[in-house]
Amino acid sequence: MAPAAHTHSYYAATAVGMHDYPCLDEAVRADVCVIGGGFTGLSAALNLAERGFGVVLLEAERIGFGASGRNGGLIGSGQRQDVIEMERQFGLARSREFWNFAEAAKSDIRERVAKHVIDCDLQEGQLLGVHKKSYLGMAAETAKALAERYGYPHARALGRDETRALVATDSFLEGMYDAKAMTIHPLNYALGLASAAQAAGVRIHEASRVLNYTRSSPAVVTTATGQVKADFIVLACNGYLGKLEPRVAGKIMPINNFVVTTEPLGESRAHALIAGRFGVHDTRFVVNYFRLSADRRLIFGGGENYRAGFPRDIAAFVRPNMRKLFPQLADVAIDYAWGGTLSVTLRRLPHIGRLPPNLYFAQGYSGHGISIANFAGRIIAEAIGGSAERFDVFSSLPVHTFPGGTLLRYPGMVLGMLYYSLKDRL
Ligand SMILES: Cc1cc2nc3c(=O)[nH]c(=O)nc-3n(C[C@H](O)[C@H](O)[C@H](O)COP(=O)(O)OP(=O)(O)OC[C@H]3O[C@@H](n4cnc5c(N)ncnc54)[C@H](O)[C@@H]3O)c2cc1C
Repeated sequence: MAPAAHTHSYYAATAVGMHDYPCLDEAVRADVCVIGGGFTGLSAALNLAERGFGVVLLEAERIGFGASGRNGGLIGSGQRQDVIEMERQFGLARSREFWNFAEAAKSDIRERVAKHVIDCDLQEGQLLGVHKKSYLGMAAETAKALAERYGYPHARALGRDETRALVATDSFLEGMYDAKAMTIHPLNYALGLASAAQAAGVRIHEASRVLNYTRSSPAVVTTATGQVKADFIVLACNGYLGKLEPRVAGKIMPINNFVVTTEPLGESRAHALIAGRFGVHDTRFVVNYFRLSADRRLIFGGGENYRAGFPRDIAAFVRPNMRKLFPQLADVAIDYAWGGTLSVTLRRLPHIGRLPPNLYFAQGYSGHGISIANFAGRIIAEAIGGSAERFDVFSSLPVHTFPGGTLLRYPGMVLGMLYYSLKDRL
């Protein structure tokens, strides 16, 4: 069975080290069967193999076919919500625990890239643009909190002019620059993780969609053409989970988000637009995020929908958001436009846990999944290996089911999402 092609993205066009892994066409035995070949699954597989487990990874399409090969490439510090909000919800001690978890997740990516020499354009720096008068002051408050309460001196508040000097838009009233957040070519990182996993002994199969598995020990995982008998299952399908695991499907809502990439802008025009290779995102509920590519294109993400299926013309869907920030790019051609599916939880925190008798899962990174998904794979491997201390940071956190479960989560959530995105514009 041939795997589906990658989506027509800038990342697929500039992929390094892409190669085909065979479809599973036999019955095999493994210690662990990982389902899903994005950051969560790849990282779990690699870390498990490094600990001596026999691992089979089954990917329905291609390695990095899901959100991991399509995202904006911004690796933020902390969690999806800022520390002020986290302190309000959880108190300082727990907020610090979540922050430290995310810092370890960033370090894990740096270490993986260095250890396996992954050619994925890892860069440092990220700017948050504040778009709304009522948010003025939040950059200074957050940077101060990070320095004083989290031992993180790398975030700095910027006034309007300083922000404007870094990003040529009139949309930002102030900013915060985080010198130790990062950006990455996400598909190349996924492909690099896959090569490292294979070298560590993981048997990777593409075009091998899991149809079902038994709730038994060992479990029997079935695809159209093969079977894996395994002591543990790691479920790493995130926004692409569908109906495979009803016990966790209702905790997440899949949403689609869209990205475009312009033609190369040339060095001077690119630099005049964004004065560096740092990533930029803003304070809108439907976040605009963007950065320059290695060949000086603008990669711009903005716009999402909450139903199955993408708009027919994604470039036309995203372009107005880009033009609102950068009217000076009206004449610039868009070379690539694509969408991907991620998943969000009600609280915008990841949902990580285990289900009886032997299944581990991680999902619902809520748009903050590059580092956290990658790290979730590591801590699942730790937990299967017998040390669940870091796994329990999130597995102990109650995660609410979407009202209406999988059947009715959409109408209510869509209304909610539309309400907040409307608030962005007011
Ligand atoms: C457009 C977009 C922009 C984003 N931007 C950012 C960003 O800038 N920063 C950030 O931190 N996060 C961002 N995210 C989120 C981030 O990409 C995800 O949180 C992260 O990649 C999730 O990784 P994952 O491995 O859990 O899931 P995925 O990468 O989605 O992988 C799941 C895999 O499971 C496979 N699968 C599904 N069902 C089966 C089955 N039955 N059998 C076998 N395989 C199956 C799928 O084919 C898929 O490859 C963005 C997401 C999108 C879509």
